Amino acid sequence: MSLLSIRDLEVAFSTRGAPVRAVRAVSLDLAPGERIALVGESGCGKTTTMLAMMGLLPASATVSGQVLLDGTDILAGGETTMRPHRWTDIAMVFQGAMNALNPVRRVGAQIVEAVRIHGGSRQEGRLRAREVLDLVGLPEDAVSRYPHELSGGQRQRAVIALALSCRPRILLADEPTTALDVIVQDQIVTLLRQLSDSLGLAIVLVTHDLALVPRLCDRAAVMYAGSVVESAPCVDIVHSPRHPYTRRLVDATPDLAGERPLTSIPGAPPRLDGPLPGCAFQPRCGEAVDRCATIAPPLLQLAGGRSCACHLAEVVA
Ligand code: SF4
Repeated sequence: MSLLSIRDLEVAFSTRGAPVRAVRAVSLDLAPGERIALVGESGCGKTTTMLAMMGLLPASATVSGQVLLDGTDILAGGETTMRPHRWTDIAMVFQGAMNALNPVRRVGAQIVEAVRIHGGSRQEGRLRAREVLDLVGLPEDAVSRYPHELSGGQRQRAVIALALSCRPRILLADEPTTALDVIVQDQIVTLLRQLSDSLGLAIVLVTHDLALVPRLCDRAAVMYAGSVVESAPCVDIVHSPRHPYTRRLVDATPDLAGERPLTSIPGAPPRLDGPLPGCAFQPRCGEAVDRCATIAPPLLQLAGGRSCACHLAEVVA
C-alpha cells in the first residue's frame, strides 16, 4: 500500500486576469522509504505540487484533488486536517538554506522550538536537537551556533536536521543542492540517501537538475506545464526516455564524458493562464504530428512501471 498518494491534484492561482492553472491532474504514489524525483524546468509546477502536499499554498490558490496519507485525505478538511501531519508525518526542506533558518536564533533553539510546537517538552527538544544534528553530521557545537556562523553545506545540513526534528516519515526536498558547490552537493545527496536508508524515510526531491536524480532517487516524474508527462524508474528516464520533452531535458544535461553534444530546448514553456489545446509541448516538439495540435495525449501506462503522455508513446514503446 502507498504511504502517500496524490490523486488528480489541481492548483489554480487567482490573478487579475484569468486564473493560472499551475498544477493539472497530477497523480503520484509514494511507498514507505521510496525516493521519487519531480523534474522539469522552472515554472512547470514542481514546487507548487510540493507546497500543496504540505498545505502551504497562499490564499490565492484554489486546490482540488486528494492527498491521501495512509489512505486518509489530509487535504479534505483544510488546515485542521493538515496541521497534525505537517512536520510529524511530512516535513519539507525549503529552497535556500539561509532563508529557511531564522538568522537571529541559534540552530539548536530553532530545533527545540519545532519540537515544542508539536507537543514535546523543552528537555525533549534539547535531546532531539543533539540527536538530529549528529544524524546530519554536524559537530556538537552547532547547537549553539547562529546560521551565519555555519558554511553553506553546514547550513543545508542544519535545515535537514530541523526538518527531521519531529521524526517525519516523508521528506519533501525542494532543490536541496542549489547554490552549493559540486563537492558539497555530492555530500548532501549522500546524506539524504543515508538518512532515507537508515530511517526508512521516503523522499520527494524537486529538482531541475536531471544529473542529480539517479544519484538519489528510485523513480522520477517529469513535469511540463503543470502536468506529469512521463514517469519511470530513474535509469529509464536517463537512458531510454520516451517523451520528447524528457529526451530534450536529457540532451540539455551536461555529459562529463563528452559523448553527446549539449543542446538547449528551443522556445519557452506555455502560459498557464489560458487554454492549452492539444499537447502543451507541441510548439517546441520536433516530433509533433497533426493531432498533437488539437488532441491532448493521455498519460498512458506502459510496461516496466512506466507512463508517458505522448501520442507517439506506444509507437516508441
Ligand atoms: Fe510531441 Fe505530439 Fe508527443 Fe506532444 S504528443 S510530445 S507534440 S509527439
